[in-house]
Amino acid sequence: MLTPDLRAALTDAVDAGFDAQIALTADLLRFPSTRGNEATAQDFMADQMRRRGLSVDRFLVDLDEIRHLPGFSPAAVSYDNAWNVVGTYRAAGPRGRSLILNGHIDVVPAGPLDMWTTPPFEPRVAGDWLYGRGGGDMKAGQVACLAALDAIERAGFKPAADIIVQSVVEEECTGNGALACLAKGYRADAVLIPEPLHDCLTRVQLGVLWFKVAVRGLPVHASDATEGANAIEAAYELMRALRGLEARWNARKCDHAHYENSAHPINMNVGRIEGGDWVSSVPAWCSFEVRIAIYPDQTIAEAKREIEETIREAARGTAFLRNTPPEVTYHGFEAEGYLLQDAEVPVGILAGAHRAVFGTDLQEVASTATTDARFFGLYGKMPALVYGPVADSTHGFDERVSLTSLNKVTKAMVLFIAEWCGLDPIG
Ligand code: ZN
Repeated sequence: MLTPDLRAALTDAVDAGFDAQIALTADLLRFPSTRGNEATAQDFMADQMRRRGLSVDRFLVDLDEIRHLPGFSPAAVSYDNAWNVVGTYRAAGPRGRSLILNGHIDVVPAGPLDMWTTPPFEPRVAGDWLYGRGGGDMKAGQVACLAALDAIERAGFKPAADIIVQSVVEEECTGNGALACLAKGYRADAVLIPEPLHDCLTRVQLGVLWFKVAVRGLPVHASDATEGANAIEAAYELMRALRGLEARWNARKCDHAHYENSAHPINMNVGRIEGGDWVSSVPAWCSFEVRIAIYPDQTIAEAKREIEETIREAARGTAFLRNTPPEVTYHGFEAEGYLLQDAEVPVGILAGAHRAVFGTDLQEVASTATTDARFFGLYGKMPALVYGPVADSTHGFDERVSLTSLNKVTKAMVLFIAEWCGLDPIG
């Protein structure tokens, strides 16, 4: 247990550096690190790690090194620019428990700029909020990892165990960035991922599948439309059928202990669509892309079978599609759900750290999304705790993170590190 004096010294050190932490977060938010464009933000992270004396490993995610591993998801985009950055602090005489601090650098596209109050990659502070794409999900958390190390040093200490800081790509589409870190052999006694969890801990998360449905039609002149088969309109029928599958899976929530109280755990989202070539031609093609969640104990193979059966069944109801069945391909997430188990010690320490800062008990939420925690937990057998600040409008416009919450979460992270890793006085 930390003494009250040490606790106060550590949390005061977070306060003393908090303006710098906000400024550094804003600097990171200026990089539009959407998928394929993360490299400059990763250079920035590597530089920040070097300045803190971490030894930096900046490496390209190599599909050939991970495609055979459990947890791999098919990639539909180029990895020519998919750089991971890992900074390692090595304790001189390690005696505590080691820790991985993991965050993802990739952010989702900003959407129509005219729906943002101010530009997404020009961060600003207003009241208690720091605005910008990726502010919540999850650059504030990534910088909090660095700020936590700064606070420990500012208070006159150094961690008594190794700490590995990971800034990974691909969290928003496959998780292959985190998988590449695991394949490289990075391990620790626990993992902390400061995703924007609203000051809560997530021990259980759903799996996620991405798939693409390609629908064919019969093109004719629009003046003879009844002679053709409209691929775009047929696609809507298939989407309706998938809504039915979503409803069936939600109806099974009572079979899943952690989700029985969740109003709508399984969410199906048609996130992209394209189709047709000409306004006066009945469209010969349409493809749409879907994200759907699965329960932790639902296998990917079984989920795929049900998805494909749903599409096949719906296609049978259409004269043209009966003979030209839609094609389903998987082009992203094949993420299993994950349940953190046998982690009473790190969870207890985090709960104590949280209580010391917030004055309230640590709440837990069952996540209806996925995170990179699954790689550490399922395939690396390392307990992975997901805990982070209050954020709003992640993946939406005017994304923002609460500075009050970020300050407190950073303090809780520092106290967690102090107790999990141990501290030694500098010098
Ligand atoms: Zn995230």
